[in-house]
Amino acid sequence: MVTVPLSDLVPEYIRRFEAYVPSKPDAELMKLYGCSRLFRLNNNENPLGPPPGAQEIIKRFPPIKASLYPSGDVYFVRNKLASRFGLDPDQFLFGNGANEVIAFVIKAFCQEGDNIVTADKTFSVYEWVAEFSGFKTHLVPIKDFAFDDEAMLKAVDGRTKIIFICNPNNPTGTYWNTEKMTRFLDRVAGRQIVVIDEAYCEFVSKPDYPNGIKLMEEYPNVVAFRTFSKMYGLAGLRIGYLVGSREVVDVIRRTCVVYSVNGVAQDAVMAAIDDDDHVARTRELVDTEKAYLDRELRALGLEVQAAEGCYVMVRLPMSDTLAYRKLMTRGVMIRSMTGFRFPNWIRVSIGRREAMEAFIEALSTILDKTDRGASGRVSS
Ligand SMILES: *Cc1c(COP(=O)(O)O)cnc(C)c1O
Repeated sequence: MVTVPLSDLVPEYIRRFEAYVPSKPDAELMKLYGCSRLFRLNNNENPLGPPPGAQEIIKRFPPIKASLYPSGDVYFVRNKLASRFGLDPDQFLFGNGANEVIAFVIKAFCQEGDNIVTADKTFSVYEWVAEFSGFKTHLVPIKDFAFDDEAMLKAVDGRTKIIFICNPNNPTGTYWNTEKMTRFLDRVAGRQIVVIDEAYCEFVSKPDYPNGIKLMEEYPNVVAFRTFSKMYGLAGLRIGYLVGSREVVDVIRRTCVVYSVNGVAQDAVMAAIDDDDHVARTRELVDTEKAYLDRELRALGLEVQAAEGCYVMVRLPMSDTLAYRKLMTRGVMIRSMTGFRFPNWIRVSIGRREAMEAFIEALSTILDKTDRGASGRVSS
C-alpha cells in the first residue's frame, strides 16, 4: 500500500509526460478494422526480411542456448564490426535496438538543468527520453524539410550537452552533406556531443553523404547510431549500436546495462553484416518502388516529400488520423504524422509492388469519398 498520494513520489517531469501507446498486434487490428490481410507500411521494415544467412541462423538457433545468458557486451559482433570499419572493438556499444542507446548517451552526459538540441520534426525518441529523464529539449523547427544548421547553433546554450541530428531524417528523408556536416561540427567546436543517427545510412547512395564513423576521426565528439532493424531486416530481434571515440565510449559505457542484446540477435547479425548482396537487393527494391509511389501519388495531385530512406511522406486533404483508420479498413497500415508535428501528413514505408498498389488503390478510394463528397470541409 502506498500511504502518500502517489503523485508525491512522482517527479514533476514524469507527471506531465504522456506514455507512448504502441499499436495493437496485427491480429487484433485486423479484427478491429475487419480486414483479412494487412500490409504493414508504418514502421519502415525491410520487405525482403533478414538476409538469407541470418534467416538460416535463426532457424537453427539451438534451443538449449535460450537458457544461457548471451555475451554481455556483444563480443563477437563488436569484433567483426571493428575489423569491417577499421576501428577498435571498444568503440562500439550495443543496445536493445538503437532506441536503447539513445538513453545511454543522455544518461551519460546530462545532469539536472542540462538540455539537448534537436529538430521539431524528427525521430521522437531523443525528445521523449530527454523529457522523461527530466531534461529540456530545445526543438528547432526544420527548414525546407531539413535540419536547420544555423538555427540549431543558435539554440545551443551553456547547458546543452548533446545535439541530435537524424541523417537522413526520419520522416522527411533529407540529409546534410559532408560539407554542411563538417561546417556544423567545426562551429560546434567540440563543446557538445553530436549524435548523428544513421539508422538509414545503408539506403543512401549519394556521394556527398557523410559517414559519421569516418567523421569521428577528426571530430571525437561525434557519436554515430546504427541499427540492424531497417536495412538488415532484424527489427524484431532488437539490436542496434553506437560508435564513438574511445574516450567518449568509455564514458557512455558506464550507463549501459549488460545483457540487453539477446543471443539470437547476436548470432543473426554475425551472418548479416557481410551480406552486401542483401543491401544491394533492398536498395534496388526501395529505389524502384519509391519512384513508383512518388509517381502515383503525384498523379493523385498530392504533395509528396520523397528523398532518402525507405519511406515517403504524403500530404492529404484530410486528417491523417482519419486517413489511418480508413486505410486500415482496407488492409493498409501507414504512420499518421500528427505525432511528428506534421498534421495531415502520413508516412508510408516502401514495400513490394503488391503493397504499393494496395496502398495507392486504398488511398484513391478514401480520397474520392472524402474529397468530392465534402469538399470545403476537409482540407487542412
Ligand atoms: C528505427 C530507427 C531507430 C532505431 O531503431 P531500433 O529498432 O531501436 O534499432 C533509430 N533512429 C531512427 C531515426 C529510426 O528510424
